[in-house]
Order: sequence, then structure tokens, then C-alpha cells
Amino acid sequence: MRELCETDFEVFQVLKSEIDRQTGQLEMIASENFASEAVMQAEGSVFMNKYAEGYPGKRYYGGCENMDVVEELAINRLNMLFGSEYANVQPHSGSQANMAVYFAVLSPGDTILSMDLAHGGHLSHGASVSFSGRLFNVVHYGVDRESETIDFDQVFELARTHRPKLIVAGASAYPRTIDFSTFKMVADEVGAYLMVDMAHIAGLVAAGIHPSPVPFADFITSTTHKTLRGPRGGFILSTEKFSRLLNSQIFPGIQGGPLMHVIAAKAVAFKEALEDEFKFYCQQVVANAATLARVLKQRGFRLVSGGTDNHLILVDLSDKGLTGSEAEDILERAGITVNKNAIPFDEKPPSVTSGIRIGTPAITTRGLKEKDVEEVANYISDLLLKPDDDNLVREIRKKIKAICEAHPLYTSRLERYKKSLEECEKQRIHK
Ligand SMILES: *Cc1c(COP(=O)(O)O)cnc(C)c1O
Repeated sequence: MRELCETDFEVFQVLKSEIDRQTGQLEMIASENFASEAVMQAEGSVFMNKYAEGYPGKRYYGGCENMDVVEELAINRLNMLFGSEYANVQPHSGSQANMAVYFAVLSPGDTILSMDLAHGGHLSHGASVSFSGRLFNVVHYGVDRESETIDFDQVFELARTHRPKLIVAGASAYPRTIDFSTFKMVADEVGAYLMVDMAHIAGLVAAGIHPSPVPFADFITSTTHKTLRGPRGGFILSTEKFSRLLNSQIFPGIQGGPLMHVIAAKAVAFKEALEDEFKFYCQQVVANAATLARVLKQRGFRLVSGGTDNHLILVDLSDKGLTGSEAEDILERAGITVNKNAIPFDEKPPSVTSGIRIGTPAITTRGLKEKDVEEVANYISDLLLKPDDDNLVREIRKKIKAICEAHPLYTSRLERYKKSLEECEKQRIHK
């Protein structure tokens, strides 16, 4: 990192602050994770210098022989991981993957049936502020008021009434297993395509902990950076019959040159996810979430749907006289990062909310187990039950620091940083 220090001391410094922030607090945002050094090395590489518009063997630029190899590696590993026939690893993000599928099978104005953002869905599933809501006619299903799980009676009814061309299953804030086979029944009954967006749970699916959508869905989209623990990006899975259509929708449909350095990093992450160790990791993610749920319930918190089957929980704070945004703030001050999140039928606006979403993928990557999570869950409870106690915040901040030190992260990166800074200061050449 010496060169960065010499060339741009401002970015060098803020990079150090970010390494400190990531390693010195507990990351409990359900959509975040820590990629491995190997993944980061592949991404921060000369692969970033190459234009490779097109696909392996069919590029629009010369000099792509190594690009073909690395993209094929990513594709083959991804198909092996999920048992799929077709994979496209070029989407820059989960939203781009969704856009490509919509453009492949829909015309503007066609109807999509998807989960309401306010019940756990995603912006790119037809929210009015997203391209998806602006271009398509969107009808939303949600969760049942009692069980707070997906209301399949409503899904069937809306499908029969509105005859959507595409049904979207998948969510960003849903703590329960999603029953893809029932979604497939609905889609078949009304002649709709089924797309499953498994962005959040892709790692759990890869590890065999959440049922796979592959036998049921026409299209599967995902991110690579959540439970799958790869670089920031997206992908699409499908069957061979849609390969030409989907490829052309990504490029030239909505993207130009692929981010080959990210594709190289995806290849590395998929290799890691094929290892047994990744299965054990995902089992621990779910065990940690279950522990978090158990302790918070014991401490008197109400969880949406009563608990969790996956890597996240949604806590309803409305009976605690706290808003989601206040809770996010208190926990942040004590070194625990979460996000405020609407709960189903929330009466507060999205900028305030009545809930918080807490996830275990990132803390599990740094090695926390049930016993540690129990401790953290008790700190979270203490803080949320005494939100005005500044001494408590200070005390718990120290304890969180100690947990972080006991579970170090990116130590070689920090050492490289310190060494570069020393060399750079010796020379006094940073500007
Ligand atoms: C995170 C997420 C996405 C979008 O991912 P970006 O890479 O941020 O565009 C799409 N769908 C679901 C369900 C998600 O949770």
C-alpha cells in the first residue's frame, strides 16, 4: 500500500479509518459480510484494466484469452454450486440482475406480482421510486397479519385477479424459509414466469440449509456479497433455453463491459463456497441467529413471525417506546451496527420505522459462536431497555471492543498498512 500512501494520503488515511471501523465494531447489518483476503486480492488486480465486452469465446475486444478463462471458471463453479444449467456472472449488482430478467420477459406496462417492500421485499421488486416500479405495473403481496409469514391465500388471489406475467419471490427482510414450490404452483396456475431473487439467502442455499429455488424457478437472481460472502456484485441462473436471451439482456441490453476484476473475485468466492468449511460457516450463521432470537425473546422483545429460520431477525420495538431509528443510533454508539427496518403493517414512516433488522453473517465470519452471541444479545437488550443510560453505552462499548479484539479480522491488511505508513513517513514523501 506504499504507493497509495505516496500518491494519495487522503484516501490512504480514510482507508485506515474504514479498516478500523470494520474491525473495531460488530457488523450486524443482515446484508453485509467480510470477503476473504483471496477474494479481495483477485478484485484488486490487473483484471480491472481489461475491456471484455461479450462473453467467453465471443468478445468484441482482442486480448481476452485470460478473461475467457476466469469467466468460465466463475460460470462453471457457480453452476456446480447450485446445480444449475446456465449462469451469467456479469451483472454489476443484484438490481442489474433483476433488471435483465424483467427486460428478458416483460414489456413496459406488463404486470409483476412481488413482495411489498414494507413487508420485507426489495426496492427492485417494483417500488415506485425504482426503475421497476416506473416501468411495470406492480401488484404486491405481503405477510399475514397474524403469522407474519407470506400470505399464500393472498398470493393466489392476487395472481388470479391480476394475471401477472412474472411472479417474484424473495426478500430483504424476511426471517423465515420461503416455500418456492408453492410459488411455482401459483405461477403454473396463471401461466406466469417465476423469478426467485435469493440475494440474501444465496449462501444458505449453496450450503443446503435453505431449500433451493433451482428446481422451481424459471429465473434466479442474486447478489454475491451477502451470505455468499463474495465481492459486491450479482448473477443470474436459469436453464439453457433462456441463455441467449438473458446474455443479450445483460450485454448489450443494460451493461457495457463486464467488471472482470469482480468476476475474478466471484470465481474465488464460488470456489470457497464449494468447500465444506463454507457449509460449517453457514450452519453457524443460522445457529447464531437462532441464539440471538432466543435471548432477545427471553429478554422480552417481540420478534416478527416469532423467530427466525435463517440469518436474520426483525425486532418489533413498538411496545418499548423506541423507534427503529433511535435503536439503530443507540446500538451504533455502543459499537453494534444494525439497520432500522419497517416491520409488517408499520405505522411509522420508512425513515423512522418501528423495528430493527439484525443479522449474523458478518459476525460469524469473524468467528463468533453461540456463547459470544448470547453475550452480545444481552448487551443489545440492556441497551434497548435503558436507552438513556450513557454510562451503560460506554461500558458496553468497551466490552464490544474486547469481543472484536478476541476475534480479529484482516490483521495482515492492517500490518501492511502500518508498514506502508512507516516507510512512507520515513521518506516524508506523502503529499
Ligand atoms: C440486496 C438485494 C438486492 C440488490 O442488490 P444490489 O446489489 O444492492 O443492487 C436485490 N434483491 C434483494 C432481495 C436484495 O436483498
